[in-house]
Amino acid sequence: MQVFLKKGGIREIGGWLVAEQIAPGYFELVGFTVDLEGGTRDRFRSLPSLHTEQLDQILLANGNRVGRVDYLGEWHSHPTFPPVPSKMDLSSMINMVENSGPSFAALVIVRLLDTFSIESTITTFQRGQSPIGGRLLIDDTPSEKLFHD
Ligand SMILES: [Zn+2]
Repeated sequence: MQVFLKKGGIREIGGWLVAEQIAPGYFELVGFTVDLEGGTRDRFRSLPSLHTEQLDQILLANGNRVGRVDYLGEWHSHPTFPPVPSKMDLSSMINMVENSGPSFAALVIVRLLDTFSIESTITTFQRGQSPIGGRLLIDDTPSEKLFHD
């Protein structure tokens, strides 16, 4: 993700999170889609073919996993301000879980601090409930990123 954040520079970039549920309330991030172009607001409302194609590839690459691998939510960067959900971020996610999309989704917001570190938050959204901050656990070994709602 650091590579993409560097490419994005001061532009906000983002995409979808793809995860396997490994226990109730625990998800292991297995991949993410990314749109390096600006103007990613529409990702909340539509299913752009770019993300669908990338999602299909991630699902294919993880077909041997025991648990169900699926769309978990959204991620994007806040290159120039703290990585906490804005009012628009919150309302977009709430609108998605309440009206159109899955009844549960996570939002990860990241900011590149320097070459080696990323600052991030995760917020989970469940239909009929208020958003809550979750815990993002980052393992030392690459590709082992766990998070908990
Ligand atoms: Zn945002």
